[in-house]
Amino acid sequence: MIKHKHQIIIVGAGIAGLSAALEAAQAGNDVAVVSKVTPLHSHSVAAQGGTAAALGNMEPDSWEWHFYDTVKGSDFLGDQDAQALFCKEAIETAYFLEHIGVPFSRGENGRILQRHFGGHYSEFGKGPYIKRSCLAADRIGQAILYTLWGQCLRLQVKFYKEFLVTHILLQDEGCSGVIAWDIVRGEMHIFQGKLTLLATGGCARLFKISTNSSINTGDGMGMVLAAGLPLEDMEFIQFHPTGLYPWGFLISEGVRGEGGYLLNQDGERFMKIYAPAKLELAPRDVVSRAIQGEIRAGRGIRGKPYVYLDITHLEDQLIREKLPQIRQMVLKFAGIDPKKQPIPVAPTAHYTMGGIPININCEVLADGKKTIVPRLFAAGECACVSIHGANRLGTNSTMECAVFGRRAGKYMAKIAKKVNFLPLPQGQIKERLGEINTLLNRTPKTSLAEVREALEEGMTKNCGILRDESSLKNQLELIHQLKTAYQEIGLKGMPKEYNLALQEVLELKHMLNLSEAIVRCALARKESRGAHYRNDFPHRDDKNWLKHTLVFIEDEKYKLDYKPVVITRFEPEERQF
Ligand SMILES: Cc1cc2nc3c(=O)[nH]c(=O)nc-3n(C[C@H](O)[C@H](O)[C@H](O)COP(=O)(O)OP(=O)(O)OC[C@H]3O[C@@H](n4cnc5c(N)ncnc54)[C@H](O)[C@@H]3O)c2cc1C
Repeated sequence: MIKHKHQIIIVGAGIAGLSAALEAAQAGNDVAVVSKVTPLHSHSVAAQGGTAAALGNMEPDSWEWHFYDTVKGSDFLGDQDAQALFCKEAIETAYFLEHIGVPFSRGENGRILQRHFGGHYSEFGKGPYIKRSCLAADRIGQAILYTLWGQCLRLQVKFYKEFLVTHILLQDEGCSGVIAWDIVRGEMHIFQGKLTLLATGGCARLFKISTNSSINTGDGMGMVLAAGLPLEDMEFIQFHPTGLYPWGFLISEGVRGEGGYLLNQDGERFMKIYAPAKLELAPRDVVSRAIQGEIRAGRGIRGKPYVYLDITHLEDQLIREKLPQIRQMVLKFAGIDPKKQPIPVAPTAHYTMGGIPININCEVLADGKKTIVPRLFAAGECACVSIHGANRLGTNSTMECAVFGRRAGKYMAKIAKKVNFLPLPQGQIKERLGEINTLLNRTPKTSLAEVREALEEGMTKNCGILRDESSLKNQLELIHQLKTAYQEIGLKGMPKEYNLALQEVLELKHMLNLSEAIVRCALARKESRGAHYRNDFPHRDDKNWLKHTLVFIEDEKYKLDYKPVVITRFEPEERQF
């Protein structure tokens, strides 16, 4: 076993992790970033459209309008103290990113270029769409991630890549670091830190059809759950309407923005039934539900679970100039020229609104409410502060990662000065090493791939865009069967070095626990709000459900608790489109 000691340990090298690393290192700390992939392969690199900040470069804007849109977008489940702070700090953070060298696209006056995105309006929702999304062509994630990475290297942040963190080391005095498996060399490592930050991204890979990278298995959330700590609002998973079937790769809203139609088996523009005024440009949750409704009614193409996104009526030149990446992707993966044939699409799991409950300093909350876990922090998509509530607005996520990643880094830098290293809990370390050895010595009776596939298929089918009591109960039963099957997965005879099956087995354990948490939260919430839609309870119910869900495991049993939503300014109102 190999030990490493750094003042600050950051798990995750996406926009959240690297923003924190940069701030903490800038303040003079010795910072280590541990990532299961090479940093530049973190999912942040895939972000396309832009990052939100009310800069007002193109037309007048205000952080308060952004605040209102974020509250309404969240279907009134976000905490308004955090949302207000986010919208204010987004402006300063956009300039910070500009100053460290993010290559934003520029307008004629040399300022950062901004564009329209769904849900962002002017004048407290009463005015027209507003250009609030700062862009770097259609590669905002890459632009931000690469810049942050370069800055971290300059400040000598130490990177440990291809290390799978499996557990957080937790004792009464707080977190003393993490345990990780060196994927390449097949060894156990201990990372001891005064303070630890989880920035491990979302869990939309629990679903078979997903826009997320295969690495987005929600490990950080899984580790928190395994440690007996709560997760917040896990029933809220965002489904993007148009993923390329059957893979689920993201086909941007821009395609419909340019005039694309959605068609069913009968060649009918079915959105006219579901959203007569906004048609294909209705909000994401509405369009996703419409597509799913068509598929369930047997009107998917040739009875299969997809519909068509048709742009054959658009000019070839427009497709090539305005949608070049999409055209390339569709050509490359589906072998379809979108000028000649419609694109097969289906809703796809996209984003995790819930996560590890934190306060505005990114301290993890032990009871999900006020009490903090000393020395443990979280930021980015794995955390829930809560900005997005029941539904995230496009482009608010990368900005949340930058705003709260930076806040975490600065706050940790302050605390690190005042505390010493905790002794390591040797018992826990031994136990964890034992678990890995058991896996490596067990003769397999069940196939790893089959369990993972069954889980993902079940999550998409039973806990997807449309849910009800019976589908959720079916999924719960399936998860219990798969948990039993999991005990029979073995890796006997396999080498320790570069054993990707071992990585998958370790991820799968968290995936099973997380899925059960999501299903139990969804089963309990008897209303429809934002991305959580119950066929059997189709309306929002503020009287009973204007509250955050907390889920945790105690004595091997799942327990639920609730806490109020923070409302400082905007009272809940009906969302109309
Ligand atoms: C296709 C796509 C397009 C998007 N477009 C936009 C957009 O235009 N605008 C926008 O605002 N948002 C967009 N989003 C959402 C946004 O990109 C993400 O929410 C955000 O980038 C998440 O960043 P993060 O830092 O929290 O985590 P990630 O970037 O997901 O990084 C997670 C990190 O954690 C590490 N990690 C995870 N588990 C472990 C473990 N067990 N051990 C060690 N390391 C671990 C990974 O290696 C990785 O480095 C998009 C998302 C997708 C999928």
